[in-house]
Amino acid sequence: MKTKTGNWSIFASTNSMSKISFDNTEIAFKHKSDAELKQAKWLFSVFNYSFLVKYGPALTSVALKLRLPIKGLVKSTIFKQFCGGETIQECDDTADVLYQRGVGSILDYSVEGVEGEETFIQNAKEIKETILSAKREEKFPFAVFKCTGVGRFEIFEKASNNTLSEKESVEFETTKARLEDICKTAVENGVRLLIDAEETWIQDSIDEIAMAMMQKYNQREVWIYNTLQMYRVDRLEYLNKTLGIAKNLGFKLGYKLVRGAYMEKERARAEEKNYDSPIQPDKESTDRDFDRALTTCFEHREMVSTCLGTHNENSSKLLADLMTKEGVEVNDNRFWFAQLYGMSDNISFNLAQEGFNVAKYLPYGPIQAVLPYLGRRAQENSSVSGQVGREMSLIVSELKRRKA
Ligand SMILES: Cc1cc2nc3c(=O)[nH]c(=O)nc-3n(C[C@H](O)[C@H](O)[C@H](O)COP(=O)(O)OP(=O)(O)OC[C@H]3O[C@@H](n4cnc5c(N)ncnc54)[C@H](O)[C@@H]3O)c2cc1C
Repeated sequence: MKTKTGNWSIFASTNSMSKISFDNTEIAFKHKSDAELKQAKWLFSVFNYSFLVKYGPALTSVALKLRLPIKGLVKSTIFKQFCGGETIQECDDTADVLYQRGVGSILDYSVEGVEGEETFIQNAKEIKETILSAKREEKFPFAVFKCTGVGRFEIFEKASNNTLSEKESVEFETTKARLEDICKTAVENGVRLLIDAEETWIQDSIDEIAMAMMQKYNQREVWIYNTLQMYRVDRLEYLNKTLGIAKNLGFKLGYKLVRGAYMEKERARAEEKNYDSPIQPDKESTDRDFDRALTTCFEHREMVSTCLGTHNENSSKLLADLMTKEGVEVNDNRFWFAQLYGMSDNISFNLAQEGFNVAKYLPYGPIQAVLPYLGRRAQENSSVSGQVGREMSLIVSELKRRKA
């Protein structure tokens, strides 16, 4: 499906770009059977029960540890909606279905919250496996990882504050070497690599490493992408600062733009520790900075490649419109749209139908280990955060359309 230059071409057309609409549910859910849609509808309705959303993951974790027979139930419901499988092999069929519809998958080893040298070594090995899968198969256009999957959270925090002890400095060097090894593996195998963004109090050290990797490996082409969370008040300034640095030193930047996933935690910590919140005062400010960042990246497209990680229809349309207006090919490799598996299929598949580059994060891992990830998806889709309305109304429209 990809051309020799790496562009996804089969769905490309040159005169249909400005008509993008995210309302076509037939395109959005073509890959889902009636039964699957009904199950998704049931699942999203369950997210309205705040008790289940709040305590579900913890209760499930305890039940799994007690070996209660609930694994099958979890695997066939919430896990099936948001994850590709427990292993890379188990993700294959799902990735094939998406690929046939012009959407790539980004294998995301979503094991969280477990620390220890052995675990970090094992996680790094697994991330390298995802890179090799991406090298072998075009259905995986990127690889991705979280720095705290391969190094201790506290080490990144102390490195960000310049408070590492001598012993910790040695540990940090080992962690950095592991990170560089992952980046090098990606570049040597011709795979683009996304580095996820995390909490503000560890992000400085991650940014520093990401900049060093971009300087080293993005000399001619963009292989390494850092992530900018635009719910942070300081990210536009940071984007502009790094544009200056990259221009002066002669390398290219890769940025995944997201709004940010840790808002409540960030605000609570700022209040508890009595410092100014690093988060925008309201949603409008986040939206404004997100769209400004995407416009800035677009305007500097000669030196910045962008992966737009969002379920926001306005921002997705903004990039599609900018590309149309400036005559940028829909399948230009410098621009990718990305959503999470199980969410916003209306954005992913309608963009893909028009020929844009689209990929979905496809989380995988042992059920017990991905429960924190599933908890966040449940929270994000609960009535509290308001996301559930859009997903639900799209599913209901499609079921009605099929019945009619
Ligand atoms: C492919 C992909 C990759 C991602 N990678 C990362 C990552 O590396 N790091 C990370 O942190 N997140 C990541 N996310 C999650 C992302 O940051 C958002 O939490 C999520 O996508 C929701 O934002 P949105 O743009 O899709 O949608 P929207 O619904 O338009 O925006 C919701 C977001 O707006 C912001 N917001 C909501 N209310 C307020 C308020 N009152 N004040 C200020 N801001 C507000 C929050 O960031 C919230 O998550 C990723 C998401 C995707 C799709």
